[in-house]
Amino acid sequence: ARRPLIAGNWKMNGLRADGLALAKGLANWLVGDGSAHGDRFDLLVCPPATLVAPVADALKGTGLAVGGQDCHAAEKGAHTGDISAWMLKDLGATHVIVGHSERRTDHHEDDDTVRAKAEAALAAGLTPIICIGEIEAERDAGQALQVVARQFNGSLPEGATGTNVVIAYEPVWAIGTGRTPTTQDVAEMHQRIREEARGRMGDGADALLILYGGSVKPTNAAELMAVADVDGALVGGASLKAADFQAIALGC
Ligand code: 13P
Repeated sequence: ARRPLIAGNWKMNGLRADGLALAKGLANWLVGDGSAHGDRFDLLVCPPATLVAPVADALKGTGLAVGGQDCHAAEKGAHTGDISAWMLKDLGATHVIVGHSERRTDHHEDDDTVRAKAEAALAAGLTPIICIGEIEAERDAGQALQVVARQFNGSLPEGATGTNVVIAYEPVWAIGTGRTPTTQDVAEMHQRIREEARGRMGDGADALLILYGGSVKPTNAAELMAVADVDGALVGGASLKAADFQAIALGC
């Protein structure tokens, strides 16, 4: 059975004091009350790049993992303002989100860029969490499955296996809107992604974690996490409140 991953994407939120307090609170819960449940799931926080180092230092040995929200495709060089996967790894990160829809929109990242970033993550020894998902017009036009299958195949790095990458299905229209697809739609999409994965990695696809993201809350987490082929959540807004993030984890 696949062990679920509950990942918090803090996006561009958190100064040092709040971020550290949030991370330490989650870690205390995980080694305390949460430890009874912690063997059921893995927990990850992805703070802004400025907080990866202090959060990683504070969480050492707690079982709560730390990831980045983006990385450059190159190892180093003349790329002012960018951060490489190797730099995140150096700080103690184990994962990095690539291809989030906000990166695809705000920074015009396409599947080729996302794939190159995921390849860099693998080369650096990080697990890329590769985000894919349709926009509302594509869903309305009945193209959601094809769009997401194309993004999956275009964004999946060379050398991906069921255990060295994670996929996050995030319908763009569900992000930060309080709207979610029906469980039937989620089931259909996750099943399709696993089929595509089988075409790329064979039986390795059985081990692949496919997360759902987009307005995951304590009130809908259990229902979404119970859907076949949903192996955890990528949580935005609700990951900024320890109680909500914990409740979501307990729902899986
Ligand atoms: P929300 O949970 O705030 O909808 O954000 C989802 C997301 O984009 C996680 O990466």
